[in-house]
Amino acid sequence: MALIHNLGFPRIGARRELKFAQEAFWKGQASATELLANAKEIRTINWKAQQTLDFVPVGDFSLYDQVLDMSFTLGNLPARVRGLAGSELDNYFRVARGRSANDTGCNCIHASEMTKWFDTNYHYIVPEVTAATTFSLNAERLLTQLAEAQKSGVNNAKPVIIGPLTYLWLCKEKDDSSRLDLLAKLLPVYSELLEKLADAGAQWVQVDEPILVTELSSEWRQAFETAYHTLKADRPQLLLTTYFGTLQDNLQLACNLPVAGLHVDAVRGHAELTKVVDWLPAHKVLSVGAINGRNIWKTDLNATLDWLEPIAEKLGDRLWIAPSCSLLHVPVDLDSEEALDEDIRSWLAFAKQKLSELYVLGKAINEGRDAVALQLQANQLAIDSRNHSTRVHNPAVKEALRNITPALGQRQSAYPQRAAIQKANLRLPLYPTTTIGSFPQTPDIRKTRQAFKKQEISAAEYSAKMKAEIGHAVREQEKLGLDVLVHGEAERNDMVEYFGEQLEGYAFSQYGWVQSYGSRCVKPPVLFGDIRRPQAMTVDWIRYAQSLTSKPMKGMLTGPVTILNWSFVRDDQPRRDTCRQLALAIREEVQDLEAAGVNIIQIDEAALREGLPLRQSEWQEYLDWAVESFRISANGVRDETQIHTHMCYSEFNDIIESIARMDADVITIETSRSDMELLDVFEQFDYPNEIGPGVYDIHSPNIPTVEQMITLMQKAAERIPAERLWVNPDCGLKTRQWAEVIPSLENMVAAAAALRAAARG
Ligand code: GLN
Ligand code: ZN
Repeated sequence: MALIHNLGFPRIGARRELKFAQEAFWKGQASATELLANAKEIRTINWKAQQTLDFVPVGDFSLYDQVLDMSFTLGNLPARVRGLAGSELDNYFRVARGRSANDTGCNCIHASEMTKWFDTNYHYIVPEVTAATTFSLNAERLLTQLAEAQKSGVNNAKPVIIGPLTYLWLCKEKDDSSRLDLLAKLLPVYSELLEKLADAGAQWVQVDEPILVTELSSEWRQAFETAYHTLKADRPQLLLTTYFGTLQDNLQLACNLPVAGLHVDAVRGHAELTKVVDWLPAHKVLSVGAINGRNIWKTDLNATLDWLEPIAEKLGDRLWIAPSCSLLHVPVDLDSEEALDEDIRSWLAFAKQKLSELYVLGKAINEGRDAVALQLQANQLAIDSRNHSTRVHNPAVKEALRNITPALGQRQSAYPQRAAIQKANLRLPLYPTTTIGSFPQTPDIRKTRQAFKKQEISAAEYSAKMKAEIGHAVREQEKLGLDVLVHGEAERNDMVEYFGEQLEGYAFSQYGWVQSYGSRCVKPPVLFGDIRRPQAMTVDWIRYAQSLTSKPMKGMLTGPVTILNWSFVRDDQPRRDTCRQLALAIREEVQDLEAAGVNIIQIDEAALREGLPLRQSEWQEYLDWAVESFRISANGVRDETQIHTHMCYSEFNDIIESIARMDADVITIETSRSDMELLDVFEQFDYPNEIGPGVYDIHSPNIPTVEQMITLMQKAAERIPAERLWVNPDCGLKTRQWAEVIPSLENMVAAAAALRAAARG
């Protein structure tokens, strides 16, 4: 008998109930008791949804983040929250977000850092450690939830914890100690925790060690041996869980650690599955992650059974089947969707539907395919329909893809020649000033957009309202004396959705939310088919904006790599091909803008870095096609047209050569927070084109002073010749208010003027 189980279920609720409960508590509109009651209700619903499983995850629910939960379980809290008034829950939210409900002044602290959970768009709270860090067990949360699950009548509740090595790996040292040195202090707390869970009736504990799919040094590999030999005690049994990739050189290590079972990601790691089966000692359980926990497509069940059946034959009772990873990264329930058309809906599976697939797989393995013949047939119909749909496959797009030649990615002339032509045409001053694209998205703008979506106002009314906003933004920029203007992006709710909505090959869900961090959720659009641009997407707005001013107006686009990385992407062709289709669509838009007389076009690649694979050895391949796509989208223009790109992260030292290969005439980047530290890279690497290091931190409501911005630019001028420097904020201003933006930009323009005056001597 093969068993079926799950690694984790989305915790936000099908209608984002957790978000609303959290936010009500933070605002003081709901008590802690109410928050906890809401949380309990979500867990109960989730357990119900997992009734058919042989093992059900417990402790995967979180009031904010599972890594923060683990820090509390291990008693690892930053010293700055100790001794503050309030409950443990208050401290929990203080670490997460700087404050709890009703905190004012003295109880606010600075929140811990937040960063991306492996290669997902989920962000965890980074645990802080120093050489002096000690650990002590607080198992209450897990024990309470375990009891709750047992009482709710689920089969075998299986507590989920983050393993000791992955936990340490996620920690950040706040001094010059090395976090791995804390292992000896950490392990006794894990032992104690496992004992307690066994006492409470857990037969199995799921121990997540996803770092086993990354490149580990010999020290870390050795630490795995030490740790799991220490935790070897037989009760409870440990399921060592790996996901998000292949084990590669950690395969033998993972197979041989003294635990009772191993989970592998058979979606991304399919190629090494046979090797795992061969290497795994004969007494161990193998949990095969056969259903993609990172995407929203239906599993091809027959195709999966084709490779799973022989494995089941070999393993017998030792086979468990599961999703590849926790279902945290997919939306909750497809049944909530009322507006998706039938075709597309029939191709999709959200968390609940994935569990149904799992059930069918389990039954087919245990009782034969005949036992689930109807389900398999329905699944096959959906798979075939998607494979052959004319909505997915557009021969003209495939033809265009085949016709891509290196010439498409090539500008007419090299940067120095182009720059000279652009200089003569644009006649910009030294240290030209600009902004990144968006101006404040006021409540008024949002209301208008919603009214238009609900068809409460006509297209003409909507357009008039947006044009009024553009007019306002242009007037303000002229008053400020900025050199290169933007239209302000009032008509865009989101930099990816805006383009997705106008491209063929995209669909949108109503409730397809996925947790990004805390109460923040994102609803990635679904890229299901060949991408075609039926008509121009931005030209009318930009042309209108340009008609209002004699200053140059930047056309504003999102780049292909960012559109790809912030969508749920089709899995039936390589991401590279999908990206190149997007690149061709953006290229057409760039060329239309140019034809409409737009001389400067910015193509944002805010999410380029996010696509980097977990293993550094795979970075180059990704960067090569990402850069190729950008170049295809950007480089079909004349020398006169100035191409800008924008990126909003400060760590790009390790990919600077690829960024230079994008060959944008100008790049604007986030730098002000890191105090221009990022520019250190220019001491070794001679960045050839123009660059605008952000001098205004747009994530803060503070108004930067003229002096601060001059100092930052002077630092930049030490590394990059002044003729190639621009002056601009870190990122778009859509989250700010006009009352902050105006004085900040006034100061920025004044800083540029002072720098120019100084340069003239
Ligand atoms: N042009 C976009 C804006 O200004 C860029 C946003 C981003 O980089 N995240 O809003
Ligand atoms: Zn940005």
